[in-house]
Amino acid sequence: MIMTNSNRIVSRRDFLKTATVAGAASIVGALGNPATASQPQATIPTRPFGKTGIDVPILSFGGSLNTSLSMLVLRQAVKWGVTYWDTANTYMGGRSEKGMGKYLAKYPADRKRIFLVTKSHAWNIEGMSEDLNLSLERMRTDYIDLYFMHSVSSGNELTADKKAWAEKKKAEGKIRLFGFSTHSNMEECMLAASGLGWVDGIMMRYNYRLMHTDDMRTAMDACSQAGIGLTAMKSQGGGQVKTDTESELKLAGRFMKKGFSDAQAKLKAVWEHPNIASICTEMPNMTLLMSNVAAAMDKTKLSVGEMDLLQQYARETRWAYCTGCAAICEPAVGGHIPIGDVMRYLMYARSYGDRHRGRIHFQKIPLRIRQQMEGMDYGPAEQRCPQEMAIGRLMREALKELG
Ligand code: SF4
Repeated sequence: MIMTNSNRIVSRRDFLKTATVAGAASIVGALGNPATASQPQATIPTRPFGKTGIDVPILSFGGSLNTSLSMLVLRQAVKWGVTYWDTANTYMGGRSEKGMGKYLAKYPADRKRIFLVTKSHAWNIEGMSEDLNLSLERMRTDYIDLYFMHSVSSGNELTADKKAWAEKKKAEGKIRLFGFSTHSNMEECMLAASGLGWVDGIMMRYNYRLMHTDDMRTAMDACSQAGIGLTAMKSQGGGQVKTDTESELKLAGRFMKKGFSDAQAKLKAVWEHPNIASICTEMPNMTLLMSNVAAAMDKTKLSVGEMDLLQQYARETRWAYCTGCAAICEPAVGGHIPIGDVMRYLMYARSYGDRHRGRIHFQKIPLRIRQQMEGMDYGPAEQRCPQEMAIGRLMREALKELG
């Protein structure tokens, strides 16, 4: 139950119904000013984070935004139990970490409630040490709960010196847990990690499009058995369901009848896997926070038919979503063109409507490589792509839109 400022009680079910994307504005009124609400509120469920002995909320605040501008959202997130915060030292040029630091300076008592995660994109341990110290300073904290190597794309990156570094930083009390995030070749990275014994947590792309493949199932099982805590990201599998085809209409209509938005249904599909500890998703405003919290609080499960519909929709629209299996397409064109990354940057621009973010990432690709992209024949890569993506056309469009 949720107590409102006027002492009315809102049930979880009512909360979900009201907090669909369309109804989110009305729940602001129902709950009153979130920054001043003082009554105890319902909080979202938690799950064990692998074998670490730590329980985390099933929804994590994705902080790839300027969190300095999100103090009210962060405050309300804590009140609803969204106390797993994810950031990286590169997000918004450091403004994400600084914003979290601003929050923690204002509400120091909340630090022990928050499971704080940040990442280093350095490729060596010297750089990781520098990044970690900077993150601690920016976030005004003495320790990070979970420290990630950012965007690992091969098991070969999980080297013995990283293990030694993680052990040293744990002994110094600067980090509690260590792991990595992965956007490309996730399954291979997860399998490699499951055999190492020193990876505590992984954040990987995981959604209704990716969860049914044999490779992903095998990787999930291996990590679960190894006790690795798993956080899903990119849980929407691209953008919102559209209403262009019969199955899209069917999907949207069916979820609507049950009181979900399609975005909420996609979260529920991911939570179906009991070993997904949490879903990390960006919540830059109160509307999205409420919508996601509502989905997390609601206990209604998707039916087998609804899971099948999502799968059918994924099949019918596979050409529109890159699954990050870069080890398949990139070697077909010499191995030096980051096709999987470019597809992801296009997704930021097109599906998330965040062209700025897509451009920032794209422009980090060395100029020499970008020049080579232009004249490249992507035919061999297209032939291998399991999603049947029009790689050549998309790479040319990326050059125009993001270059
Ligand atoms: S373009 Fe196709 S083969 Fe390449 S990473 Fe994406 S889905 Fe995989």
